[in-house]
Amino acid sequence: MLKFISRLTLITGVFFLLGLMASCADKKDSEQIDSAQNQTESIAERPLALVIHGGAGTIKRENMTEEMEAAYRAKLQEALDAGYAVLETGGNSVEAVRSAINIMEDSPLFNAGKGAVFNSLGKHELDASIMEGQTLNAGAVAGVTKIKNPIDAAILVKDSTRHVMLSGTGAEEFVSQYGITMVETSYFDTEKRLEQLHRAQGKEKVVLDHSGVLDTTPIDDHKYGTVGCVALDKDGNLAAGTSTGGMTNKKFGRIGDSPIIGAGNYANNLTCGVSCTGTGEFFIRTLAAHEASNLMLYQEKTVDQALEEVIRQIQELGGDGGMIAMDKDGNVAWDFNTAGMYRAYRKSTGEMKIEIYEKTK
Ligand code: ASP
Repeated sequence: MLKFISRLTLITGVFFLLGLMASCADKKDSEQIDSAQNQTESIAERPLALVIHGGAGTIKRENMTEEMEAAYRAKLQEALDAGYAVLETGGNSVEAVRSAINIMEDSPLFNAGKGAVFNSLGKHELDASIMEGQTLNAGAVAGVTKIKNPIDAAILVKDSTRHVMLSGTGAEEFVSQYGITMVETSYFDTEKRLEQLHRAQGKEKVVLDHSGVLDTTPIDDHKYGTVGCVALDKDGNLAAGTSTGGMTNKKFGRIGDSPIIGAGNYANNLTCGVSCTGTGEFFIRTLAAHEASNLMLYQEKTVDQALEEVIRQIQELGGDGGMIAMDKDGNVAWDFNTAGMYRAYRKSTGEMKIEIYEKTK
């Protein structure tokens, strides 16, 4: 009898233990399911967003034909959709920036890639840069003459060298080994840009520089057209890219703000991603893009307030131009002290906007 009771106790004990283990396993499973659900929910809730610009300047309604406006709007929309499609299908922010910028680089409407302006020698020298907000890794090319899409070259410098910026023939020789599309320099020649060069040279005035040497300074025709993009991907990573032909009638060898990390382009997941357009010298002197990030980091400004402050500083120095930015939560900002700026954004909230002329709040 005693034997029977102890056997029964043993069997009950074993069943009890098995039950306990099963219930623990169930609990663990359900905890795992819960955490996976939470993760999926938080990923689903993470905003995706993309903002682009196509340059700032004296862009006024009265100077624009209906056809021109429609062409700009359509191209901005195409760039926005191409970049956003990358984010929507799980691509990263750098690839989204590349896609959006490639569309604008391939269009003669903007001063980047195909539509690049002429320098004072009647040639094209293109600049571009890219930066990742998570790693602060960055790449840039300056003064390149044969690379069809300079933003692709900037990404290659970021990913495949230990450097941040390559210039001129060195940059071209390096990227040509990686299958980047190279073109004849005449690919960048367009009638519109040639006219702008002739107009600028016709208007050129002669001034004395600080050393007393005669210098010819172009009268700025206040039309830019540099392109830029900031994107926020599903992992919460920001990236910013900028691509340009520089300024019409710029001196041979002149490098603007666009390929200079911190001046015309910057991204930091702690603060924001920024891309600039305008008279590059002022954006270099103020380190405009990095300044906007610092204002958010050290003075707790919002992304809107940060851009407003930087544009104020540029204005105070006598410069002009515009900036786009996005913070880590997908809040988009843009500001400029010119008449207009080609600009657009699209977000996973469904919001989308394309604007050209004066600011509307
Ligand atoms: N920022 C560019 C540069 O100075 C010009 C532009 O924005 O169009 O090269």
